[in-house]
This record gives sequence, C-alpha cells and structure tokens, in this order.
Amino acid sequence: MTPDELERIHQACRVLGAGGLVAFPTETVYGLGADATRDDGVERIFRVKRRPLRHPLIAHFASLAMMRDWVELPPMAVELGERFWPGPLTCVVRRSARLSPLVSGGLDTLAVRVPGHPLARALIAAFGSPLAAPSANRFGRVSPTSAEHVRTDLGSDVDFVLDGGACEVGVESTIVDCLSEPGRLLRRGSVTLDELCAATTRAIEDASDTASGAPGTLPAHYAPEARLVLVERDQFAEAVARIAAQGARVGALLPPGRPRPAQAVHVIELESDPILLARNLYRSLRELDAHCDVIVASLPPEVGVGAAVADRLRRAAAASH
Ligand code: AMP
Ligand code: MG
Repeated sequence: MTPDELERIHQACRVLGAGGLVAFPTETVYGLGADATRDDGVERIFRVKRRPLRHPLIAHFASLAMMRDWVELPPMAVELGERFWPGPLTCVVRRSARLSPLVSGGLDTLAVRVPGHPLARALIAAFGSPLAAPSANRFGRVSPTSAEHVRTDLGSDVDFVLDGGACEVGVESTIVDCLSEPGRLLRRGSVTLDELCAATTRAIEDASDTASGAPGTLPAHYAPEARLVLVERDQFAEAVARIAAQGARVGALLPPGRPRPAQAVHVIELESDPILLARNLYRSLRELDAHCDVIVASLPPEVGVGAAVADRLRRAAAASH
C-alpha cells in the first residue's frame, strides 16, 4: 500500500468505527460497507439504498482465515473458498450470532465473501471486523463500477468513498448456496458453474433462473432508467428503426460486427471478449441512460462470464415492462 492509500484506509476505518458508511472498491462492483457487527451501521445501508430490509447483504472478510474466526463454514464453502478466494464468489452459509442479524435480512443464513481487490482486503484487515455490503447504488438500479458512479448515485448519503479505480470484473459475484444438498448456484457471475463443479467433490445444480435464484435477485433488477429492449441480433437494425419512428431517443448496445443503426442517437459497440463485455456493461448502460429513452440490446453468447451478462440484461429488460 502507498502512504496515500494507507491514509485513506485510516480515514475509512474512522468512519466505520463511528457507525458510518464507506463505499469501497471490489473486483466485481463497488460495495456500500458498514461494520457488520453493528445494527445501526447496517440499518443505515438499507435506508440509504432504499432497500427492503428482507433483502440480505454480503459479509466481506479480509481472508479465509479471518472468515473462519467469525463464521462456521460447511465443507463445500471451505473447498470453494480455498479455490476462489480472494475472488468474485459468494457462499451462503449458516448465520453467525456475532454479526448483526440485519445482514441476513431475516434469514437464518449468511452470504460471505473474500473480495479480490487489494484495497478492500486492506480496509477490512485494518478495520478488524467484517464489512456488510451490498452494491453501492440505489435499490434496483445498475451497480456502480467506479467511484464516480457511487458519488453520482449516493451523493452525500455515503460518508466516505475509497477510490480504487474501475472494477475489473464488472458484474456482481457468483453466489452458491453451500448448505443445500446438492449445492445450488443462486446467481451467475464470473465464476462459472463448470469451474465451481471442478473445484468441489460435491454436486452443484443451477438454480439461477429468475424464479428460483437468491433472495434479492429479483426478475426485475439491475435496470437502467431507460427502457431496455432485447432483440435478436439479425433484427437489430429494424428494431432500432421501428422504436425511433415512434419518437423515442434510441440507444444501441450493438453486438460486435453488426452495422451501426443510423436511427440510434448513441451507439456503443459491445466487445466480443466476454471478460471485456462484463467489465464495461454497467458503464455502457449508464452512458446510454444519459442520452436515450430506450436501449436496444441483444443477448451475448452465454460462455464464461457472458452467461452473467445475459442474466443481467434479461433482468434489466424484465424491469422495463
Ligand atoms: P448485492 O451485492 O447488492 O447484489 O446484494 C447482495 C446479494 O446477495 C443479495 O441481493 C442476495 O441476492 C444475496 N444474498 C445475501 N445473503 C443471502 C442469503 N443468506 N441467501 C441467499 N442469497 C443471499
Ligand atoms: Mg445490488
């Protein structure tokens, strides 16, 4: 850590120690953090996000060793944690009485993760207690992938923003229920079902569809302000022309290699590499939001983290109806 980073981590720790809120960078998206042991801090997260109290948060730890001091882990969480932490994986385990029950949103389970971003881990290690954090945006909106996004969304409602640059992964963590038998993939992220299955001797089934996923992963979630319309790739230009003819300012999240639709007021061409696609997704949606009433998009191939991008686009489109 540089002296400047250490100084900012100290400042953030002071805010957390007073029950305040600190937005911090992770490799997935920015989190809105509070001391996970304090009801008052955790309660403020829900208020600031305008998030219903029954939507549980994720408890973040500096390391697997630290996590084991605080919560009891089932064997599957240990196997997956040893393989993927620090990293973009969240495991659902049994709740610990040492954390505020508000973190669990009324459930008897708890979501835990060791984030990959070095500033996040340094912050949690310096603070000494886990941080409860959801994404640092208002409830139901596009997650922030830069400190600037957090400031735009939350303004002075957040006490301190620890700037760690743009998020590398760009979509929320993969979530696995490690208590059920077989384990269940609850939310898609950059750690894929195949990678999960290869890392554990136990079976894991895909439960990430909109009906049966994690509490809080609503069918209508992750939505931009503009209406998002999903179309087949080969009907992209016609769809843009049709919607523009109705008088809407249309933005295009254009599949790679497709011709630029003339009637779109703003066009962002998507990357074909799924890693870059995920990294830029939310920034692109925010940019289009600033210029357009309607965003036209097509689903990417569901390979690697492309499956998580397709999942978020489906939910954003569902929220638009
Ligand atoms: P966010 O990072 O904003 O997506 O918020 C954390 C997400 O973690 C929630 O929306 C839930 O989908 C998930 N989550 C947290 N706790 C649990 C739990 N105990 N069981 C299942 N999912 C959970
Ligand atoms: Mg969120």
